[in-house]
Amino acid sequence: MRTGQCLCSAVQYRAQTAEAVSVCYCKMCQRWASGAFMGVMAEGFEVTAGSAHLKVAKTSEWAERGFCDQCGSNLFYRVPEPGYISVAFGSLDDTSGLQPSVQYYVDKRPEGFALATKTKEMTEAECVAFFAPKEGDQP
Ligand SMILES: [Zn+2]
Ligand SMILES: [Zn+2]
Repeated sequence: MRTGQCLCSAVQYRAQTAEAVSVCYCKMCQRWASGAFMGVMAEGFEVTAGSAHLKVAKTSEWAERGFCDQCGSNLFYRVPEPGYISVAFGSLDDTSGLQPSVQYYVDKRPEGFALATKTKEMTEAECVAFFAPKEGDQP
């Protein structure tokens, strides 16, 4: 179980996280997080303080992003259906043991921003083929 919070501490949460950190360079994540968004898949996400300050914006057909309405810190990326959440790496209080494992939209990665750690890499086309809902899929 790990705990996390926004910059002003108004919103606090706890969750069980994976140890793999995913890094996304898509333009949406760049706009949202300034550079890459670094996220950690989590289960049992629970807001422990400041739920009134947690705002959730629907940012695409299938995803939404959570942030603190007091300080603006990004807290998570969430896909309600089928239901998964990736908490913002930087919002975690303790990130020991977490390692980058995959980089998404590497063809959108700003020049000179390669990670020192070798990870799996996926281009935009590979990400869309892998993640986007496909026509004919069962709901
Ligand atoms: Zn805050
Ligand atoms: Zn992204």
